Amino acid sequence: MIGIAIDGPGGAGKSTIAKTLAKRLGFVYVDTGAIYRTVGLYMSRIGVAPEDAAGIEQNIGGVHLGIRYENGEQRMLLDGEDVSDKIRTPLISKYASCVSAVPAVRDFLFVTQRELAKKNDVIMDGRDIGTVILPDAEVKIFLTASAQARSKRRFIELREKGEDVTLEEVLADMRQRDHDDETRAAAPLKQAEDAILVDTSELTLEQSIAAVEAVIRPALEG
Ligand code: C5P
Repeated sequence: MIGIAIDGPGGAGKSTIAKTLAKRLGFVYVDTGAIYRTVGLYMSRIGVAPEDAAGIEQNIGGVHLGIRYENGEQRMLLDGEDVSDKIRTPLISKYASCVSAVPAVRDFLFVTQRELAKKNDVIMDGRDIGTVILPDAEVKIFLTASAQARSKRRFIELREKGEDVTLEEVLADMRQRDHDDETRAAAPLKQAEDAILVDTSELTLEQSIAAVEAVIRPALEG
């Protein structure tokens, strides 16, 4: 099986780009952030605070998650319920960031992610795919963009969904999550030594897709 790892901070365009290229290449797209978000949703539902690392560790065994693919779209299930839309809120973004810093959560989800890559050709996006989950991936890309560019995109997305947020709030939230992801002890966000850097700050979505495809195609052929 072939593995393509795309890591980078939130809002760099990882999911849209990975989804588009997975379709083109006939690979399965795995959004690992959605898996952490589902764990976050579970903790919020049972009343564990995002900062309560001990509580999260104690309750991780109670998470029954499922991943289903419908027409190439990844759907997340929690106790059998499709929660794919419910995990896309600012509160659950915060929860995801907090639960992902707990080593017991990362260990719990490691196997799930590995199994997906064992059974399918995958394009997997996340923070630690090239460094921890698929260290032997055929292609590794570190996709990034300036905090300003990323927050502007996220702001437009949230507004389109009817969320009442300001650009300043989105930028502050993004800076905080970047900082948390980069400085945590467990699998911090960092570029793998053998990953290729793609910066999308000045690129349109189409240009970003083309830039990533230009890295992937020759690597798969070579
Ligand atoms: O990519 P997304 O914003 O959906 O990820 C939500 C959170 O999950 C991130 O802020 C990050 O803390 C965490 N995450 C992670 N490792 C991954 C994917 C996501 O720690 N492989």
